Amino acid sequence: MKRYFAAVVGRPVRHSLSPRLFKLLAAELGRELRYRAVEVDARRLAQALGSARRGPWVGWNVTLPHKVRILSLLDGLDDSARAAGAANVVRFEDGRAMGYNTDAAGFLVPLGRAGFAVRGCRAVVLGAGGAGRAACLALTRAGARRVLVFNRTFENARVVAAGLGAVAGPLSQAAEAVREADLVVNATSLGLEGRGCPLAPGARFKTGALAYDLVYRPALTPFLAQARAGGAGTLGGLGMLVGQALETWRIWFGETVGGRIGRRVEKELEEFLTGKGGAL
Ligand code: NAP
Repeated sequence: MKRYFAAVVGRPVRHSLSPRLFKLLAAELGRELRYRAVEVDARRLAQALGSARRGPWVGWNVTLPHKVRILSLLDGLDDSARAAGAANVVRFEDGRAMGYNTDAAGFLVPLGRAGFAVRGCRAVVLGAGGAGRAACLALTRAGARRVLVFNRTFENARVVAAGLGAVAGPLSQAAEAVREADLVVNATSLGLEGRGCPLAPGARFKTGALAYDLVYRPALTPFLAQARAGGAGTLGGLGMLVGQALETWRIWFGETVGGRIGRRVEKELEEFLTGKGGAL
């Protein structure tokens, strides 16, 4: 069987779930994929990419802090990376390194699976970093009626909203918009490891609203706990992580992975994160 090599490249990457995720996918799909987490600091990124072009790699996943910096080092970008202003996937072919972005596609996967109709919805996105931008891009392209993006640093929300037809505001003023939203997305890094919530205590949700946290560790973040207490439906970030990996797989191998495999992989990761899974 042909052996393929891939890696997640960033700093830090020690705690990345990607090696486990891609090992599960490779086992499901019968490919021999050697996937590693490679710690690369910003000063060495160009050099690492240079040697990878000459190496045996099928591709890289790119994570913080390199998603934007890598754009200028690549040999070409597809529309997804251009629109997102960041690349989280690299495909190596014939000595060339091409950049893609799978975050926006991955963002929509769990919404589709939950039966949430994005077309015509009113959405609020909290956070305007890479994940917030991907969420806004996916929502506007999928036909949301209104996308409001709120961020601690207002200027960053303004930059994300510009050109997407979204509206920007400071995070401190999100509560009123949240009350009228069908979908509220937490795309800030608040809630990671269970610390912090982007909304003030007591924030109210519209009846039937869906709260979607892109943070996946822990499964029940303070934002989701608050939304649940306020009667909203909830969705964690693991589905997006798996969704963007399925899209990565399609880019690397030209193979579309079915939703059933995605759900199996997601379940195994969930069990791993909650300490119920076996070793892989
Ligand atoms: P990023 O580019 O560094 O952006 C971080 C965002 O969080 C910015 O909007 C930042 O606001 C905000 N923020 C940070 N600390 C804050 C605080 N104390 N109070 C209020 N806002 C704060 O990171 P990212 O790539 O967008 O990732 C954001 C989160 O999404 C991370 O937790 C990441 O794990 C998660 N994520 C999940 C997936 C997935 O597949 N599920 C994919 C990508 C990202 P400022 O602009 O004011 O700094």
